Amino acid sequence: MSPAPAEWLESSAERIAESVRDGTASATEIARAFLARADSTAARLGTFLHRMPEEALATAKRVDQERARGGRLGPLAGVPIALKDNICVRGIPTTCGSRILEGYRPPYDAHVVERLRGAGAVIVGKTNCDEFAMGSSTENSAYGPTRNPWDLARVPGGSSGGSAAAVAAREAVLALGSDTGGSVRQPAAFCGVYGLKPTYGAVSRYGLVAFASSLDQIGPFARTARDTALLFNAICGRDARDMTSRPEAAPVELDALERGVKGLTIGIPRDILTGEGIAPAIRACFERASKALERSGATLVDVTLPHAKHAIATYYLVATAEASANLARYDGVRYGLRAKDGNLTRMYEATRGQGFGREVKRRILLGTYALSAGYYDAYYLRAQKVRTLIRRDFADALTKADALLFPVTPTTAFGIGEKVDDPLSMYLNDIFSIPASLAGVPALSFPAGFDEAGLPIGLQLAGRPFQEETLLRVARAFESSDDAAARIPAIAKGGA
Ligand code: GLN
Repeated sequence: MSPAPAEWLESSAERIAESVRDGTASATEIARAFLARADSTAARLGTFLHRMPEEALATAKRVDQERARGGRLGPLAGVPIALKDNICVRGIPTTCGSRILEGYRPPYDAHVVERLRGAGAVIVGKTNCDEFAMGSSTENSAYGPTRNPWDLARVPGGSSGGSAAAVAAREAVLALGSDTGGSVRQPAAFCGVYGLKPTYGAVSRYGLVAFASSLDQIGPFARTARDTALLFNAICGRDARDMTSRPEAAPVELDALERGVKGLTIGIPRDILTGEGIAPAIRACFERASKALERSGATLVDVTLPHAKHAIATYYLVATAEASANLARYDGVRYGLRAKDGNLTRMYEATRGQGFGREVKRRILLGTYALSAGYYDAYYLRAQKVRTLIRRDFADALTKADALLFPVTPTTAFGIGEKVDDPLSMYLNDIFSIPASLAGVPALSFPAGFDEAGLPIGLQLAGRPFQEETLLRVARAFESSDDAAARIPAIAKGGA
């Protein structure tokens, strides 16, 4: 007997793919259940910029036919997945949440999309995000904000807010986002799901619209540690079209995640945990989680990250400098929007003036300034040097510990409208996510509890390059000792 649609909504990707492979479930039925859920919740949540019901059903049908023929099905067979709208899918609108890309349909698939198709995944749509991934709340989307499934008056985090919210609301089992300074980890924390920023170079950026190329990484969202690994495995590895992608990028062994934390050393960077700013509920959750891991057999050691306090200042020079160069290509000639204006120069100006939002313009100005002759040494070069120091901090700390544990954010999800007019306070929300981005190390946000208002709390694990497995193993040990995972946002309760 085939389970009721509502049961599929709560299933893991692992179980869905297994059931589709052994013929106890139909990919088409599963796709229908998730599409119906999104029919009832997506408009309220603002999760998608473009839904793909016909394409999803066509893919699901192909998976079912392949199974009927006795063909080999991939590790994500029939698994509904949502993609952040800065990941190119051939023929499907890709806007990056920006007016300047209105009408653009990429003529090719991103590397990760090719991989997902090969694995049998069913793409259900493109998710809302801050314009060009610049933001921490998804309020910088030109197409309206996404809402947090746990409290519709709050932000889902950003910039990959649509992807995190879609997974939390069971509109998709899995999703991909991109993380430049926290954009997978922070929304994962705000929405109570897993979010992994892989090691820089673990996943090809081919077909990911560039924001800050030395920091951008595509990363998975999922509701369990094992599903996070499953999705990471599907997308990681060397791709000749991204020269920064590395052959060392290794899939995670799923069985290894069940080994527990005995024998592992977890570093606590006490120096970044001092100071005001951290909400008491997050501090308490952090203490609880570290004690739980210690009880499960991990050894805790104190470490330091002495230069992490300079991470935000460093990031807003490096990332804006790279963004100012990357965004120069939107000139009204090659992609999307073109303003009607007399001569060529005026057309460029009008297109960029109308097409980019306030935050994007602010960053282009900042980055252009930081790179300009006379200021380059004082700002950009200096920032690169501090980046090296931050990278060394992590390398040192990770000689003493297998993974570092600290919060993802200083607070839980804030209200819609609370920080949009105050860019600096928005930037400060990333204080704990940016250091690992600058260091290029893998970092995972995992659900660790709830605050007094019932909002999810995420904690972060950072590790040695290409050791995503260790992070997921620690998170899996915590997950199996914790019952928080049983909570579901009200909007995602019951059938579709
Ligand atoms: N919030 C950070 C920013 O606005 C990080 C964004 C990201 O990771 N894409 O730059």
